[in-house]
Amino acid sequence: MQDKNNLIVYCEYEDGHVADVSLELLTKGRQLATELGVKLEAIVVGDKLDGVEKQIFPYGADVVYKVEDKRLYPYTSNPHAAVLINLFREIEPQICLMGATCIGRDLGPRVSSSLHSGLTADCTSLVIGDHTDPKTGKEYSNLLYQIRPAFGGNIVATIVNPDCRPQMATVREGVMKKEVFDPAHKGEVVKLKASKYVKDEDFVVEIIDRHIEKSKINIKNAPIIVAGGYGVGSKEGFDMLFELADVLGAEVGATRAAVDAGFAEHARQVGQTGVTVRPKLYIACGISGQIQHIAGMQDSSIIISVNNDPNAPINTIADYVITGNYEDVVPKLIKYYKKNSK
Ligand SMILES: Cc1cc2nc3c(=O)[nH]c(=O)nc-3n(C[C@H](O)[C@H](O)[C@H](O)COP(=O)(O)OP(=O)(O)OC[C@H]3O[C@@H](n4cnc5c(N)ncnc54)[C@H](O)[C@@H]3O)c2cc1C
Repeated sequence: MQDKNNLIVYCEYEDGHVADVSLELLTKGRQLATELGVKLEAIVVGDKLDGVEKQIFPYGADVVYKVEDKRLYPYTSNPHAAVLINLFREIEPQICLMGATCIGRDLGPRVSSSLHSGLTADCTSLVIGDHTDPKTGKEYSNLLYQIRPAFGGNIVATIVNPDCRPQMATVREGVMKKEVFDPAHKGEVVKLKASKYVKDEDFVVEIIDRHIEKSKINIKNAPIIVAGGYGVGSKEGFDMLFELADVLGAEVGATRAAVDAGFAEHARQVGQTGVTVRPKLYIACGISGQIQHIAGMQDSSIIISVNNDPNAPINTIADYVITGNYEDVVPKLIKYYKKNSK
């Protein structure tokens, strides 16, 4: 029997790879587990899981649970939920983290409603802290602060779950930083018998054929991003940003206002309801810098703002501000970059 009340991360596993978002959550989980003085556990449910722990241990996991059955890959709702619900009844984790992906959004609520725990979706920060119930005066220590924007981003809410376990949270890809804890770190592998946790009846849905269209746009890992906002004014205006991006070897990002106006594809949207990015250089053209946008790019190493309003809020977080119309500034950036990089 394993020991109880640890912190567990549900690791998504596809095509032989643990998903980036799961490794990001293991990185955060390692930090939180150390603070709480508990073990960091990971669970992988699927098929052909040989050696999967080698991808997980460097991120600091103390225990990796593996539940293997060929019917458990690819992901389907009932079987994966059954595994987690039944295992959690045994090991009673105090915290469970999942990616706010299609899978996490499907799985998290099923598990939390079955266990009568709570779940906070799309957290942007996770912190350990104490809490006093204002009504009863009861004190709680070492709760998981599940922090996320609320009411359309107008407030940042800190949500706690004092009594029910596990405290569950989902986090979008890219929000937490992925960092190897120790490449040589080793933990314990616990192979669990699938038939103990999932019944044949849970496999009511059989996947006969699967087609996944991979997104052709991937701004998440781009080292340089040239981003455009509503101030760029048109799709044609974005062509100029693509030209600059081409010269710099960059990707093009956009604000929600620019995406809603049809200037750029949704896959390029940076921010709270888009992608979180951390490039070395972020050039923001015609972007005012509302909190929902800043949330997705504020960790960029260098930020350059090109805006015709010297008081645009984005200028307060920019390392360099160029005040002017992007139509005048961007061609000059292209010209002088080409000239100076010869
Ligand atoms: C729940 C919720 C989630 C959201 N999620 C996101 C999200 O993920 N990402 C996101 O980006 N937004 C998001 N938003 C929207 C966000 O609140 C802002 O509306 C949006 O970011 C504004 O985009 P913008 O800066 O392009 O446009 P604006 O705020 O209209 O700013 C345009 C800027 O362009 C400048 N400008 C105008 N003409 C020029 C020119 N010729 N040259 C240079 N500068 C010029 C103006 O001075 C201005 O600063 C969300 C909102 C809500 C309520």
